[in-house]
Amino acid sequence: MAKKKRDESRVSNIPQKGNDAGEKIVIFKPDMTVSDLAEAVNKPVAVVIKKLFMIGIMANQNQVVDRETVELVALDFGYDIKDEVVTDALRFDEFVIDDAEENLVSRPPVVTIMGHVDHGKTTLLDTIRSSRVALGEAGGITQHIGAYQINFNGFPITFIDTPGHAAFSEMRARGASITDLVVLVVAADDGIMPQTEEAIEHARAAKCPIIVAVNKMDKPTANPDHVLEQLSRYNLIPEAWGGDTICVPISALKGTGVKDLLENIQLLSEMQELKANPNRLAMGTVIEAGLDKNRGPYATLLVQNGTLKVSDNLVIGDTFAHIRTMEDDLHKRFNEAHPSEAVMVTGLDSVPQAGDKFMVFNTEQEAKAIANQRKAIHKAQELEAQRPKNIDDLFNKVDGDRKELNIIIRADTQGSAEALRGSLQKIDVPDVSLNIIRCGVGTITDDDLNLADGSKALIIGFNVRPMPNVKATAKTKQIQVRLYRIIYDVINDIEAALKGLLDPVFEEEVTGFAEIRETFKISKVGTIAGCYVTDGYITNTALIRLLREGVVIYEGKLATLKRFKDDVKEVKQGYECGVSIDGYNDIKVGDVIEASVMKEVK
Ligand code: GDP
Repeated sequence: MAKKKRDESRVSNIPQKGNDAGEKIVIFKPDMTVSDLAEAVNKPVAVVIKKLFMIGIMANQNQVVDRETVELVALDFGYDIKDEVVTDALRFDEFVIDDAEENLVSRPPVVTIMGHVDHGKTTLLDTIRSSRVALGEAGGITQHIGAYQINFNGFPITFIDTPGHAAFSEMRARGASITDLVVLVVAADDGIMPQTEEAIEHARAAKCPIIVAVNKMDKPTANPDHVLEQLSRYNLIPEAWGGDTICVPISALKGTGVKDLLENIQLLSEMQELKANPNRLAMGTVIEAGLDKNRGPYATLLVQNGTLKVSDNLVIGDTFAHIRTMEDDLHKRFNEAHPSEAVMVTGLDSVPQAGDKFMVFNTEQEAKAIANQRKAIHKAQELEAQRPKNIDDLFNKVDGDRKELNIIIRADTQGSAEALRGSLQKIDVPDVSLNIIRCGVGTITDDDLNLADGSKALIIGFNVRPMPNVKATAKTKQIQVRLYRIIYDVINDIEAALKGLLDPVFEEEVTGFAEIRETFKISKVGTIAGCYVTDGYITNTALIRLLREGVVIYEGKLATLKRFKDDVKEVKQGYECGVSIDGYNDIKVGDVIEASVMKEVK
């Protein structure tokens, strides 16, 4: 595969560090062996093996060495150590790149259409798309790639063309928020139905503005006033009634009112001032992906920032890709995709998942290294995900110190649901807020689980029991469902959980003492002390005081705590250990280390 030339016209996605020219640096790789290390420090393997032996590590040349050991040896030979790549880039799905205001330009909105089944979502998407095909933008043979863009009088709008909130909530559950605006389709002859209500809740939980399309206006049974009146009950007060919810009467089938709808989408998007920086390497989200017997793995990528180009090297989720081709839903080929554009790409190593994030890197080598490391991280995260969750895991950090807990209520009657809502809203704990994102009657549904998954919410079931299949899904997805029969218990539990969150008070507790029996000076590392724990125990995270004849001469933390060559968490009375003190080297034989920990005061 051809190596991509460095593209100087786009800003890199990795924060750039200073020039390393001339510096002596060992690049640490997770699978580094003793002989790799010897090569890196430009020394014969035997010399490195001897050095390791001197710090208590018996190793042969093929043995993998950990980062700390590499650091110790490297420093000793006068080298600095750096990780293989800048670690921030590994977590690209979490970080937001702050582009300077002057580099930002407007980008088109990304719109999702939601609503109850049969209210006309697919018809609307087809009508909007065919108006563009009819305009002769291409040959007219379309393919479903998960998104398409129209040009409405010079204003581009991207539509996600998987209607409904199942895909929307699944994306959110994977941490992807790609929608700027939701069009809620409500059939004028049917009014708000259960999935309309769910769609409203999903859009709200995602903090997406809603435009209502009152559809099927061509039907003689259409009753738009009834729809507007129902909307008001969901706090979507139509503009005509003095509120700020845009409601557009349309017929998706006949195409009437659709232009008006698009105008309103334009209006609302312009108010949102959506922006991106086209002059950087691209990043964004996978909308759909699959395997084609001719093309191999493919994916539809929505570019959210930067510009994506053919032959770019990128990481999608945790797989490497080198873009071979890009095309849109009209089979039109592109060499570039700009912010808010969606393109189907080929050249992937494997099939990613919808909702995966992608990011472009400068070189193939860089992208491959990041992909490999992300694979390893994800394995570790999968293990972490198997850990049972508790309420604390559900709190969302909002600005500053404020935290928020999302709650879904399901109760046996409207009366008890409202009573619960009222009581929960009265709980008043500083810096924590409760956000009831759904409050419904009846048993816990699959959609409750989807909403909870996407919004990190706790589900409270009051005098209801989930069906076995829902229970099973909740278990696999690790969604917290709590069942109660008494309102008082709910309030108590939630209040306790909220209070448990308040920053705990800590106080110091001495855990043990160790006597220094030997010291070793290692250049560039400092002093390593051989000690004997005379009392209690010492932990590697302990706060320590170094005492010389009963006088405190230093306070700080341990840098290392070892038994023989192994790092350990704790050493008990009667055992020997090796320690070094973070930032302090003047340790003498006969000194005593007093170790303590900070304990939470209940
Ligand atoms: P979805 O389930 O929300 O995607 O709904 P569809 O788009 O599949 O539409 C369901 C049915 O309603 C189909 O038979 C459509 O032809 C019909 N339909 C959709 N929009 C309109 C409309 O504006 N007027 C009329 N009369 N029928 C419509």
